[in-house]
Amino acid sequence: MSLEQALEQILADISAIDAVETRPLMDSFGRVLAEAITSPLNVPPYQNSAMDGYAVRSADLPASGETTLELIGASWAGDPFSGVVNERQCVRIMTGAKMPEGADTVIMQEDVQANEKQITIGDGHRAGQHVRHIGEDIREGDEVLHPGKLLKAAELGLLASLGIAEVKVYRPVKAAFFSTGDELRAVGETLEEGQIYDSNRYTIFGMLKGLGVEIHDLGVIRDKREEVEAAFRRAAELADIVFTSGGVSVGDADFVKETLEKLGSVNLWKIAMKPGKPLAFGRINKAYFFGLPGNPVSAMATFYQVALPTLHKLMGQTPEVPLRLQLRCLDTLKKRPGRMDFQRGILDYEGDELVVRGVGAQGSHILSSMSRANCFIILPAEQGTLEAGSRVDVQPFSSLM
Ligand code: AMP
Ligand code: MG
Repeated sequence: MSLEQALEQILADISAIDAVETRPLMDSFGRVLAEAITSPLNVPPYQNSAMDGYAVRSADLPASGETTLELIGASWAGDPFSGVVNERQCVRIMTGAKMPEGADTVIMQEDVQANEKQITIGDGHRAGQHVRHIGEDIREGDEVLHPGKLLKAAELGLLASLGIAEVKVYRPVKAAFFSTGDELRAVGETLEEGQIYDSNRYTIFGMLKGLGVEIHDLGVIRDKREEVEAAFRRAAELADIVFTSGGVSVGDADFVKETLEKLGSVNLWKIAMKPGKPLAFGRINKAYFFGLPGNPVSAMATFYQVALPTLHKLMGQTPEVPLRLQLRCLDTLKKRPGRMDFQRGILDYEGDELVVRGVGAQGSHILSSMSRANCFIILPAEQGTLEAGSRVDVQPFSSLM
C-alpha cells in the first residue's frame, strides 16, 4: 500500500477532539483555534502617518518649484493634534500618529527644510502619500481567523491587535507512549551484555513535545504478555492516542496483535516506504493506537510521515500546504525501485544555490544520521538509483512541526 493510500484510510478513521476551552491569549500559543474570529474593529482604527514628517493638504503641494507652509502644531503617536489644518498650513507628525483633520498627505522629514514656524517643500510629491487608511489591514466584521488555525506568533499578535483577550481552543491532545523490548534499558540503568538503551521514548517525547501535546511516559515494558496488556490498558485510560515502538515485526507481531485484539482492534499496515517496516494502527477502547517500528530511524520517519498528519487532524488543525523543495542533489543516492524512500539529507548552500547532500549511511538503526540531517530527501517508489546532480524533492525537518 502506498503512503498516500494508507494515510487516507488512517485519517478517515480519526475524529478531531471536540472538547473546547477558553484560554487567555498567551496560554493559547500552539493550540488550535475552535471558533471563527470576526474583527470587532478596523485596523488601523484611524488614519495615521506611515512616516516621521509633516502632515499637509495635497491641494497645497507645489506643481513645480517650492512652497512654504505655516507650522501650527504636532501630532504624536498617542497624543493627536486636536485642531484643523487649513490652507497653507501643516502639522509635524510622527509614525503611527493620527492624521489631523484637513491633512491628507505626509511629507517625509528628509524632504523638508523646517524651523519652528514654517516648512519649505519642493515638488514631486504624490497626493495621499505615506498615509495609512482606516481598515487597511482589517475591516470591522471581517473573518480574520478560521477554526482549525494553529495559533502561533503572528496569530497571537493579530488577535491582540483586535483587542481580543481570550479565545476558544481545543483542549490539548493527550498522548501516552512506552517502549517494548527485553533488550531495552532506561537511561540511568547499567547495560548488561546484549542490552541497549531505549532511545525511541526520547525521540517520540521530543516529537510530541514540539506539537504541544500532553505527554504520559509509561517507560520500558518487557516483552511479557501481562505487562504489555497492563501497559496498553493504562495508556488507553490516560490518553487519546497511544504510541509504542518495537514488537510489531514478524516474530512479536502476533503477540502485540493478540493483546490489542483482546482490548480493541488493530491492523498491521505494510506501507511501501523506507525506512518503514510494518506499522500497527488501531484502537484500544476509545484511544487511537500507533505501533511504530522499533528501529530508531524507522520510528521517527514513520512518526513524521504517518503519525504527524494523524495528530494534526486529532488536534483539530486544518491541514497546511506541505513544504517541499526541488533541489539539486550533489550525491549519488542508492535506491531500488519499489518503495518510496525517505533518505536523510543535509541542506546547504553551494555559493548562492541551496542544494542537498545525502548523509552517507542510511541504515534504519543509524540514529546519528537523523541528527546530522536537516531534511528528508523523498524519492518516489518507481525511482532507481539517483545520479549526482539530479533534482530531488526535499522536505526540511523544520517544516514538520
Ligand atoms: P523490534 O521491532 O522490536 O524487532 O525492534 C527492531 C529493532 O529496533 C531492534 O534492533 C531493536 O533492538 C530496536 N529497538 C526497538 N525498540 C527500541 C527502542 N525503544 N530504542 C532503541 N532501539 C529500539
Ligand atoms: Mg522487540
